[in-house]
Amino acid sequence: MDCFFTNRHGGFSHGDYSSWNLASHVGDDLADVEQNRAKLRERVGDFVVMSQVHGDAVVVVDQMPAEVPVADALITGNPDLALVVMVADCIPLLLRSEELVAAVHVGRAGLMNSIALKTVAQMRELGARQISGSIGPAICGSCYEVPQELHDQASAIHQLASSRTRIGTPALDLPKALVAALAVVDVPVVISAGCTLEDDSYFSFRRNKVTGRQAGVIKL
Ligand SMILES: [Zn+2]
Repeated sequence: MDCFFTNRHGGFSHGDYSSWNLASHVGDDLADVEQNRAKLRERVGDFVVMSQVHGDAVVVVDQMPAEVPVADALITGNPDLALVVMVADCIPLLLRSEELVAAVHVGRAGLMNSIALKTVAQMRELGARQISGSIGPAICGSCYEVPQELHDQASAIHQLASSRTRIGTPALDLPKALVAALAVVDVPVVISAGCTLEDDSYFSFRRNKVTGRQAGVIKL
């Protein structure tokens, strides 16, 4: 089992990226991205990324797919295949059991469409028994300022998502809400990294707009 989160440091890139960006869709030099991905491949071997769309599609991969799956969650039981979720403020959620692993992208939309719970349900259908999880670097409840309407929509369904910024404006605490939602289905989750906006060792879309993506990586 290998399960970890990358940050900005240690990669190859030019200019403002100057870091370990793993995403090919954010305007970074593609040759650099390929070098960054090669560095990841050195550690974990073949890995599957997804084209994340804030949807609720969960894709099971048994082998290296011919095309990048359009999905926000990947599941595999293949011990030779690592799964990767790429983020810059959204939550990278990694789920594991003895039988299967999953990588899940959970933003505000993903909290609302229950992508994490759908992934857990599918893992159980496929035979996963005891599932646990880790949440990697994500924007925190004091930094993720949102309009009142979005705050009210999300906290109507996930009470624990309701938060305030340090200056008292409406905010959402997605990690806290996600941990609570997963606890309800008996999946214990640890928050294993800090806030992307506050800690500049991470990429943050809110902080930089044009920026790279760090990754959550898991392998059975
Ligand atoms: Zn923060």
